[in-house]
Amino acid sequence: MPAEIVLVPCLSDNYAVLLHEGDTTVLVDAPEAKPILDALRERNWRLTDILITHKHADHVGGLPELWNDYRATVYGPKDEAQHIPGLDVPLSEGDVAKIGPWSFETIATPGHTKGHVVFFEPREKWLFAGDTLFAMGCGRLFEDTPEAMWRSLSKLAKLPNETRVWCGHEYTLSNAKFCASILPGDVAIAERLKKIEAARAKGEPTVPSTIGAEKATNVFLRAAEDKVAAAVGLDGDAAAVFAELRDRKNRG
Ligand code: ZN
Ligand code: FE
Repeated sequence: MPAEIVLVPCLSDNYAVLLHEGDTTVLVDAPEAKPILDALRERNWRLTDILITHKHADHVGGLPELWNDYRATVYGPKDEAQHIPGLDVPLSEGDVAKIGPWSFETIATPGHTKGHVVFFEPREKWLFAGDTLFAMGCGRLFEDTPEAMWRSLSKLAKLPNETRVWCGHEYTLSNAKFCASILPGDVAIAERLKKIEAARAKGEPTVPSTIGAEKATNVFLRAAEDKVAAAVGLDGDAAAVFAELRDRKNRG
C-alpha cells in the first residue's frame, strides 16, 4: 500500500499535510486544529507524529488543541524549541526522524526564521518546505540575511528534480505573477502562470510542486542566471540578485 497524502487547507492560506501508511499518521505543521481533526476523523486515522518547520503561530497554533484528542510525538527545530509548545524531539541539520516507514532528514534553512528547518524523505522524494521555498516564491526574511536564505534555497535546489515539494502557504498566483514580471519572455514561467491561474480559478491547490519545476520557473532559485541578474540590473553575485528580487517582491 502506497502512502496516502492529504493536503489540509487551514486559516486563510496555510497548508498542513497528513501522511498515512499502516498505523502511522504524520502531520506536517499545525496552523489550526479544526480542519486537521476533521480530516483525521473522516478517515479514522489516529495522529501519531507531528513535524514542525518553524515557530510562527500559523505553523504551531493548532498544537495545544490537537492534544485534547491525540498526544502525538512532536518533532521540530532545536533552535526554536522554546517557542514550540510540547516539542518532544528537537532536530538540527542532518538529524533523521525515523517515523513508521519513513526517514525524514532535517535540513536547516535559516532565512525566514533563524531556526527554520525543512524535512526531506529520500525514498519517497518528498520535501516539506514550510515557509522557506514556496511554489514560484520563497519566504520573507524576518530573521536572517539574503545570503543565508540564498544558501538555504541552494541546498534545496540540489535535491532530485522529481522531489515533490509541499510548502506552507498558497501564495502561488501572486508569486507566479511576480516571476512573470521579472522575466516576461520566459516560456516556462508563462506556461506555468497559465496553469496556476486555471487551477486557482477553480479553487484548486497548486501544491505540491517539484524541485524540477521550481528550478525552471522560480526566479528566486534562478538568481544565479545571467538573464535574471540582467533583468534586475545587476551582474554576477547570485546572493545580491536574490536580495534584489526579495526586495522587489516585498514592495510589489
Ligand atoms: Zn512563517
Ligand atoms: Fe507561515
